[in-house]
Amino acid sequence: MPLKFITEHRAVSFLDPFREFARTDLTIEVRHDPLTGDTARVLSFRARPLELIDHQVFIDRSQERPCPFCPGNLERMTTRYLPEDLPEGRLTRGGATLFPNAFPYEAMNAVLVLTPEHYLRPEEFTPELLANALLLAAEGFRHLAKGLNYASVNWNYMMPAGAGLVHPHFQLAAGQKPTRFQAELLRRARAHARKAGGADLAADYLEATRLGKARWLGKLGPLGWCTPFAPRAIYDVLGLAPAGKGLLDLKPAQVEKVAQGIARVLGFFAAEKVGAFNMALFTGLQPDGEQPLLLRLVSRVDIPPMGIDEINYFEKLHDEMITFLPPEESAQRLRATWKA
Ligand SMILES: [Zn+2]
Repeated sequence: MPLKFITEHRAVSFLDPFREFARTDLTIEVRHDPLTGDTARVLSFRARPLELIDHQVFIDRSQERPCPFCPGNLERMTTRYLPEDLPEGRLTRGGATLFPNAFPYEAMNAVLVLTPEHYLRPEEFTPELLANALLLAAEGFRHLAKGLNYASVNWNYMMPAGAGLVHPHFQLAAGQKPTRFQAELLRRARAHARKAGGADLAADYLEATRLGKARWLGKLGPLGWCTPFAPRAIYDVLGLAPAGKGLLDLKPAQVEKVAQGIARVLGFFAAEKVGAFNMALFTGLQPDGEQPLLLRLVSRVDIPPMGIDEINYFEKLHDEMITFLPPEESAQRLRATWKA
């Protein structure tokens, strides 16, 4: 069933003091995303190139006290699982380590330190490093999230995106109940299947985006990549798989493709001077196959020249987004570096 990508337009006029009070007519786009139910307003007339966020101040501050995730400290400064839950205390793979979150917010809640390196720039996260971390995340869910279904692998990169430590780390969460976003995604997928004779929402969204071309990036292993119709940030990139496959169903070669996609987005972020971002990979853990596998990376930038946070009352209190870059344009820029 064809999905509805709805855009409403609002016309606004005023006299512009910077053009001798000439009449200025502007159009605001209000977009409704058929996958997520998100509403976003695209104000392309506000777009300005970004200034690079300087990480040095965070790195300096992080060196004032021992980093619990650095080699030598990790062993004695991070939590361990109860012996009955995981006799070895922590899970390790490659250079990555997984242990319980000391500040938990969900039934299964783990921290995954990606690398012994204290600091990496966005473009320094290699597909190998990211794949290793995602494979360890899958192993963590297998061992420690028994009976739970609603899982996510989350990432705050650097302090403006909510990271508590500079040292690169994911946060894994799995619960019996979905978060509000997961519940809404599932509700919409079920409603679509009901209306469209069992059709798959994620598959239809990917197909419509691929045919529309403007927001499509390409398929890479299990995920189709695009920018969402209604973005949640100035830069918002989505990897999506039709329902039926979760993170735990992916073979290592498929996880490597997912990691490759993430690394490409991070390279793009670096090129666009996005110095802070959030990532979430949403996945079901049970073989019911209802939840689409959805991976999303969003920028967390300051808008020059005043360094204004891109999140304001609109995002925080109205549950809507304002963006200054049409997702068609960010896709076009990203396609230039997106190798097949
Ligand atoms: Zn460290």
